[in-house]
Amino acid sequence: MARRRSEREKESHRQWLTNNADRVRETKRAWRKANADKIRAQKRARYRARLDEERAKDRARYAANPERKKASAKAWREANPERKRAATRAWRKRDKAKRAADAEKQLAAKREKKNAQRRARYAANPERARARSMAWHHAHREQALAKLKKRYANPSYLEKHRARETARYVAEPDKIKRRVKAWKKNHPEKVRAIGHRRRSRLIDSCSPGVLPAEWAALVERFAGRCAYCGTSGTTIDHIVPISKGGRDEIGNVLPACKSCNSSKNNKDLAVWLAEKGLADPRDRVSADHERVVPAEPRRSGEVDSRNTSTSLRLQRARLSGGRWSCRGG
Ligand SMILES: [Zn+2]
Repeated sequence: MARRRSEREKESHRQWLTNNADRVRETKRAWRKANADKIRAQKRARYRARLDEERAKDRARYAANPERKKASAKAWREANPERKRAATRAWRKRDKAKRAADAEKQLAAKREKKNAQRRARYAANPERARARSMAWHHAHREQALAKLKKRYANPSYLEKHRARETARYVAEPDKIKRRVKAWKKNHPEKVRAIGHRRRSRLIDSCSPGVLPAEWAALVERFAGRCAYCGTSGTTIDHIVPISKGGRDEIGNVLPACKSCNSSKNNKDLAVWLAEKGLADPRDRVSADHERVVPAEPRRSGEVDSRNTSTSLRLQRARLSGGRWSCRGG
């Protein structure tokens, strides 16, 4: 049980300590050495507990004599090169994300400045800017095309580009139409090439062509409406696009309004339907009708007996005999 020391005992203890000062110092030193980690942890905890205060004290000490602090820090670094390196590494690691963000911000600012300059230059004289751009394009054709190819290969850019083009068309359809017409007029050879490409693909696919009677029957089946969205107006839409090797035959076509047709363009039907949130029109053909469309374009020479009535098949065989010459068919 603890007992309060008497004054006499306290005095004698003090006396003993004074008489054995060396021994006391030695004991204390040994204890500190044995408990260095504990002491460090305690100091750290105390520092953290009063962080603001301690930091203010540090700053004041530094301000009072920066040279002394710098010298002592330098001496420590020189005495502990390994720990200095480890500390630097740890700091870099902590600081990495921050530095990356800073760098990105700087880069963005630079980019923005440059873009602003470009916009200003363009606004000051759009004609000259366009002429210069075209001149560069023609002088560095390979490079320019590679650049464009790379840009359009990026799906997110392509999506944005398409949205922009659509918005432009919706805003001023007549202007775009005029422009397309003018382009066609100025580039008859290119227009011819496009038509030629399409026709040669048709020939390669050994397509029998769509007979007027077949087409009329199909249009009637969809009540003269777009198979996709149900508005009136019927252009021939190739389910598997000609450019993707689809055949020009009744099994590969559906009536579509102009808007759906050009929106689908050369996309995969399933992908396009999903984009538009539309149901597959082929599923709407009721069970007592024949299924309108084969799933895959057929190879040349095969006759598809599932999808066309006998009379139509006969008619087609009669009429389409020499329509296309089949290569290697
Ligand atoms: Zn439509």
